[in-house]
Amino acid sequence: MGRQQIDQISKELDRLYPGDAKTLCALRFETPFQLLVATVLSAQTTDAVVNSVTQSLFARFPTPEALGSAPVDEVARLIYSTGFYRTKASHVVALADRITHQYGGEVPSELAELTTLPGVGRKTANVVRSVYFGLPGLPVDTHVTRLSNRLGLSNSQTPEAIEQDLCVLVPEDRWGSLSLQLILHGRRICRAKTPSCFRCELSAYCDSAPSSVRVSP
Ligand code: SF4
Repeated sequence: MGRQQIDQISKELDRLYPGDAKTLCALRFETPFQLLVATVLSAQTTDAVVNSVTQSLFARFPTPEALGSAPVDEVARLIYSTGFYRTKASHVVALADRITHQYGGEVPSELAELTTLPGVGRKTANVVRSVYFGLPGLPVDTHVTRLSNRLGLSNSQTPEAIEQDLCVLVPEDRWGSLSLQLILHGRRICRAKTPSCFRCELSAYCDSAPSSVRVSP
């Protein structure tokens, strides 16, 4: 893929989905701890479902200290609708306890520290870094994987390799927003089973667009 093609995709995504990572993130949070917990809960569900449970979860357990000493069963009941609720409840209670006792109640911002927390992988860590701290971080989920491959931004298959490919294509301050823009475009237009190429604003620059819709940029 040429530089011009990447720049055009990036520019078009900025036009369609303006804003930085914090603006584009649909999860509701007030503190980095709340964002971390919300992101862990967001696996395999929608942001809307997460937002509907975190309100009562954070009202009941507002701090890392409170959540870290919460009964796992009670947390599981509160987050039931997010799915995988037993595992998620164990993770958020354990990570709250670690943040309380190892980090003095403050969420760390370094990737190497974040990824040692229970239930926190590279994707979640990069969400917290880019959305809350405004640090370089490019979360790769299923939408980012699919769109990166279809657009021709990356031929890699693993999230870590795709992250590396994308990170060299755009500057650090675009990593977080690019990830969220690809997610939004994946949900709206470039869906997994039925991509709407005929009405896709990126079709002129997309390696996978059918020739019938691929016009010269
Ligand atoms: S042209 Fe089609 S495959 Fe390419 S990004 Fe748009 S919807 Fe996806």
